[in-house]
Amino acid sequence: MTSAVFPGSFDPITLGHTDIINRALPLFDRLMIAIGINVDKKYMFDTEMRIKMIEAVYQDEPKIEVVKYTGLTVDFCHQNQLHFILRGLRNPADFEFEKAIAQTNRKLGNVETVFLLTGPETSFISSSIVRDILRNGGDISKLVPAEILPLVNQVCH
Ligand code: ADP
Repeated sequence: MTSAVFPGSFDPITLGHTDIINRALPLFDRLMIAIGINVDKKYMFDTEMRIKMIEAVYQDEPKIEVVKYTGLTVDFCHQNQLHFILRGLRNPADFEFEKAIAQTNRKLGNVETVFLLTGPETSFISSSIVRDILRNGGDISKLVPAEILPLVNQVCH
């Protein structure tokens, strides 16, 4: 049984994230989507709401489990018997940033990272752009999964 963790902030989950998750599903028997809690970061949506949003999208997908975690991703992998870390790549800047983290995780915890390239139609999407649009009262419906819109509206009105 091959398993992976897709770690991230998911503040909120976007069509960029779902593009990577949907491409990864055929590769793994079990995919844990893990929201990393960084006490120094300020989030727009609290952790429970971000979990709820991802669960709303993947409620019918038995391979997926949504959790939160603190600490190192490699420790989380070992504690949960997860073989791979999954990350998405949008552009060369993502690659440069991710390369150092992936090499560190391999050195530190002997865990391999699998990278999937985003589709061109979602490569421009980021959670930070979505948050900017929300702060300015704009329409995010083309950038996020439809299932999260009612939850977003509970928080931003
Ligand atoms: P983090 O703070 O860990 O970067 P994010 O939620 O921003 O958390 O991203 C989680 C993962 O999703 C990262 O691997 C990131 O590269 C990937 N990702 C985010 N947006 C996109 C996108 N539009 N296309 C492909 N991958 C993406």
